[in-house]
Amino acid sequence: MRLRNITGSREVIAQSPFVVSEEILFTCPGTWGERFGNTHPIRIEIGMGKGRFIHTLAKAHPEINYVGIEKYSSVLLRAIQKMESEELPNLKFIRMDAEDIEKVFAAGEVDRIYLNFSDPWPKDRHAKRRLPSREFLARYDRILKKDGVIEFKTDNRALFDFAVEELAPAGWRAEVVTYDLHGDAALMQDNVMTEYEEKFSSMGNPIYKYVICR
Ligand code: SAM
Repeated sequence: MRLRNITGSREVIAQSPFVVSEEILFTCPGTWGERFGNTHPIRIEIGMGKGRFIHTLAKAHPEINYVGIEKYSSVLLRAIQKMESEELPNLKFIRMDAEDIEKVFAAGEVDRIYLNFSDPWPKDRHAKRRLPSREFLARYDRILKKDGVIEFKTDNRALFDFAVEELAPAGWRAEVVTYDLHGDAALMQDNVMTEYEEKFSSMGNPIYKYVICR
């Protein structure tokens, strides 16, 4: 996903009205309602890539505020370009490493978290970097509302098995677990495809998904 050497991507991001500037990022906790100018629920996607998923959701749900988080400028640039061609008032972007997520959202400020096709970090010593790891679940626990949920999709079986095993020790439980999302008509009714989901499902890979709560 990382698109290397896109000249000027940092400059474009710094000037984009759709991106919350890095200078004020850590003043954001507790102010997201003001930032959007309403009290609608806030849903975030961590590792949004080029942003098709969150842009589609934001367009379909103007009554919900969305924040897309992406580590790399070169990738975030694509999401910005999509907003330039179709601007949505209920969608904002942040360029950051999700390790700092608690510095950006206050306790209980987030209504739902989406993790889509997160990087697998296959080496054991990198397990803490996986976005559905217990270390990240502890961070999500603090920013998510009491009845908030996390939705996670992937085609990576090893990552999905790891994510399911992390739930009990981290104090979470599954409301939904499927090993064949695209074969489940009920779950597919409001499924929004991500870029990776389209690519890997078209190759015949099954898509795994969970929805979890505490
Ligand atoms: N969610 C998109 C999709 O399903 O098409 C993109 C999936 S891509 C495999 C994973 C994305 O997560 C990459 O763009 C990567 O830069 C981003 N990412 C990985 N770790 C991250 C982190 N700690 N914080 C923010 N973004 C991260």
